[in-house]
Amino acid sequence: MLRLYTHPDCLAHQPGPGHPESPARLRTVLAALDHDRFARLDRCEAPAVTAAQLARVHEAAMLARIEAAAAEAARNGAGVALDADTVLGPHSIEAARRAAGAAVAAVDAVLAGACRHAFCAVRPPGHHATPQQAMGFCIYNSVAVGAAHALAAHGLARVAIADFDVHHGNGTQAYAAGEPRVLYLSSHQSPLYPGTGEHGEHDPGNVLNAPLPPGSGGAAFRAVWDERLLPRLAAFRPQLILVSAGFDAHRLDPLADLDLGHEDYAWIGTRLAHLADAHCGGRLVSVLEGGYSLSALTGAVPAYLQPQLD
Ligand SMILES: [Zn+2]
Repeated sequence: MLRLYTHPDCLAHQPGPGHPESPARLRTVLAALDHDRFARLDRCEAPAVTAAQLARVHEAAMLARIEAAAAEAARNGAGVALDADTVLGPHSIEAARRAAGAAVAAVDAVLAGACRHAFCAVRPPGHHATPQQAMGFCIYNSVAVGAAHALAAHGLARVAIADFDVHHGNGTQAYAAGEPRVLYLSSHQSPLYPGTGEHGEHDPGNVLNAPLPPGSGGAAFRAVWDERLLPRLAAFRPQLILVSAGFDAHRLDPLADLDLGHEDYAWIGTRLAHLADAHCGGRLVSVLEGGYSLSALTGAVPAYLQPQLD
């Protein structure tokens, strides 16, 4: 069974006119799931993350800077820039709290057996946010906060994070570098923002990067997952699999140059669900990251989730 976590506050984050990380992205994802074949989705409201849950991943100085920026944005009714392309609007902190809180609640749900799989339809995305800094459209690193919760609150010893967003999750990698109980696996376009994620970065160790050159399509994507990333994931014997589910490697995406189609998202969704079934009782939590073509999101998100419905 698949559970969906989302919250209306995630639509209230306004990074500014013309910004690609728009509320329309999440509206599009929710509309795509408002369909007969998703009628059995168990729809839940995402709670807000707590300060203690955030502090497992993010340093106190960063959290204080974000709180101060949020107070300034609310006071002035205008956005405050956290970096060149990450803006905190008057309601952005509520969105970020719900996004990270969704990941925590989804981890609790799959570990309690309330559902086998969960999808967090949230924004802002999170995988670029490092323990020290919000960046790259990301405020809190939701997937890392979910992993840290699984370790601290549930006592797990092996949590895997699989990331197929077209950008490298530098923030998640930075978190994993200091947390040996987490395995971080990523396929991404290189060169591309944020410029990290080369072969061998932090490897051997608990990070495995599979950079793909611009123009790579489904065959190259499936090859790196089948030959490198999924075997490593299986060998790790995860007790829980978290997924940074970004849909910006789709050929329609305006921010990158990979050439995936809906069928490739169905493929990775099937592979990850099977791996979760084989190793950790189906416990699979996916968190929405990037994806900036509304047409791509309309097709790719249902294609990815369909194999998790059973
Ligand atoms: Zn991305």
